[in-house]
Amino acid sequence: MSDVRSPVLPTPQPVVNPDTEKFWKAAAEGTFLGKRCDDCGEAIWYPRPICPFCHSMNTRWEAFTGRGVVYSYSVVHRAAGEWKGVTPYVLAYVELEEGPRVMTNIVDCDVEQVRIGDAVEVVFEDTGNGSALPRFRPASTT
Ligand SMILES: [Zn+2]
Repeated sequence: MSDVRSPVLPTPQPVVNPDTEKFWKAAAEGTFLGKRCDDCGEAIWYPRPICPFCHSMNTRWEAFTGRGVVYSYSVVHRAAGEWKGVTPYVLAYVELEEGPRVMTNIVDCDVEQVRIGDAVEVVFEDTGNGSALPRFRPASTT
């Protein structure tokens, strides 16, 4: 769905465990996976084996569209460590088309122009170790 590219922001190594291993593997190939509950039908993020809505274990992997809207955001002007050199940057919650909200960064944007409700799409940034972090950028209008 999406290419994996070089990062524009620091890319901490993801914590991979048996519940999220498949997600990170797909992310490295440019696919945004989530889960869906077969009992209540809700989309689930982050990936976990038990549905947080109805506690069913009847959940399965599903390729999400990678599209969503900015639900809330803040522009970070002061940061520490490896983030110090990349300010200002945008920390946001993106509400996915499927429903769940993801804490992420908005990249490839004028940080002062980001607004709640903006359409965004996923982009994957290489961590340099065979994994990739999903981030979001303003959606292309084409
Ligand atoms: Zn459920």
